[in-house]
Amino acid sequence: MRVYAAIADLRVDRSRIRMEGRAVGLVPTMGALHEGHLSLIRQAKRDCDVVAVSVFVNPTQFGPHDDYLRYPRTLERDIALADNAGADVLFAPEPAEMYPDGFQTTVQPGPIADVLEGPLRPGHFAGAATIVAKMLNIVQPERAYFGRKDYQQLRVVERMVRDLDTPTQIVGCPTVREPDGLAMSSRNAYLCAEERRAATVLYLSLEAAWRSAEGSLVDPDAARGAMRRVLSAEPLAAVQYAEVANPETLQPLTAPAPRAIALLAVFIGRTRLIDNMELGGLASMELGGPTCH
Ligand code: AMP
Repeated sequence: MRVYAAIADLRVDRSRIRMEGRAVGLVPTMGALHEGHLSLIRQAKRDCDVVAVSVFVNPTQFGPHDDYLRYPRTLERDIALADNAGADVLFAPEPAEMYPDGFQTTVQPGPIADVLEGPLRPGHFAGAATIVAKMLNIVQPERAYFGRKDYQQLRVVERMVRDLDTPTQIVGCPTVREPDGLAMSSRNAYLCAEERRAATVLYLSLEAAWRSAEGSLVDPDAARGAMRRVLSAEPLAAVQYAEVANPETLQPLTAPAPRAIALLAVFIGRTRLIDNMELGGLASMELGGPTCH
């Protein structure tokens, strides 16, 4: 695996790959790689000739009270894990490489970023969309892989590439979970043993929403109620939102619908966790259980 910190060096490699006619898949990450990230790398490897992974803790998507400084940074380990999972190129720039003096142009997402995470994390999606746009311009991949774990981010990025005519196909991949259902996340490392136990309440409440939605239509009020009942039984959980939304627009559902997405943001102690699950639809019923998105 070739490791680059400079955009110019990566571009030389990219030109050679283009001349060889090989397709590139990009997996953008903030590092502290875990099985969730590795599943994206493996999917990219199945679909593409060359897999590039970016590792960059993007300062502009963190708010002033977020965990930018204490976010885990484990580059040596990430290099080994990405290499093992089949990545061919790893791009790990310093902040000054991505945001040099004079930087001033950003991507401003639309209404899809104004709900759920949007109001709670002002500027987050503008920061995330801008860095994804930069990574897509630098790597120029045929495909880019994102986890459904960050469902709203995936939808924001899909909207951005459509609106800005970016020639990259966005691929959304299933959420990888721990055996007890907790979605894998670099932030799980912040949890002490007691909080780690309590954190399973996110998955349990999504499962309750999924069960409440069995049948042909999802009743959003029933699904919200099912989530809240489970969450309120966990004293370590402080809920920011437990919403049921239209899976495309992410606007809250006001009437029963054939398909929906349940989304959660919950503080467990000082650690903020998010998760989501698709409700309704034939696919999940055929599997006889919730699909892990
Ligand atoms: P992050 O490093 O947290 O910014 O995540 C980088 C990419 O990995 C994003 O597209 C995430 O949605 C994805 N990702 C994070 N956790 C998981 C998971 N548990 N399963 C699948 N994808 C994930």
